[in-house]
Amino acid sequence: MKVGLFFGSFNPVHVGHMIIANHMVEYTDLDQVWMVVSPQNPFKKSSNLANDYDRLQMVELATNGNDRLRASNIEFALPKPSYTIDTLVYLKEKYPNNDFSLIMGGDNLVHFHKWKNYEAILEHYRILVYKRPNYVTEAYDNHPSIQIVDAPLMQISATFIRQALRDGKSIQYLVPDPVWKFLDLSPIYR
Ligand code: ATP
Repeated sequence: MKVGLFFGSFNPVHVGHMIIANHMVEYTDLDQVWMVVSPQNPFKKSSNLANDYDRLQMVELATNGNDRLRASNIEFALPKPSYTIDTLVYLKEKYPNNDFSLIMGGDNLVHFHKWKNYEAILEHYRILVYKRPNYVTEAYDNHPSIQIVDAPLMQISATFIRQALRDGKSIQYLVPDPVWKFLDLSPIYR
């Protein structure tokens, strides 16, 4: 099975993320997209970051009902901070029959050369890149491991959503409905 890994803090997950996940599963050869929730880095505690299990639950709520999208807590059990290369090696061991690719926005590709063992990632994994405004990714455009995918983009960030909640604004339509209902009943981000 071909699986695309979409990593994020998903703090909280929003429709911008869901549009990308769904687009990748519909318009590429991927069978599934796993949305991998990054655990809190114990050395970088951020008061803005909701706890790991709340963020995972919101991704589960967002992906429920779509068999091709999954929430993954795979990094919760790995040493922290989690490096993508270590997660990839672990996943390959655990799911030897799966063919894993990475999904990332052009904003991440710009910093990719600073990732641990980025050359090994490029050598062994395909990276599906969706362009984001203001980020130039040309340096990698012709790399054999990189596949550029044109995806519809929403100008939404989790930062904006957290601020809206703090300001007492409604976040309906910015996040999937079950996530909106979950956050409506919860003190998270307020
Ligand atoms: P924050 O505002 O807290 O920084 P975020 O909305 O950017 O959060 P992340 O959890 O950091 O969310 O995002 C996970 C991945 O999704 C990252 O690779 C990020 O670049 C990408 N992403 C975030 N927002 C969007 C969006 N509106 N459209 C497409 N990709 C997005």
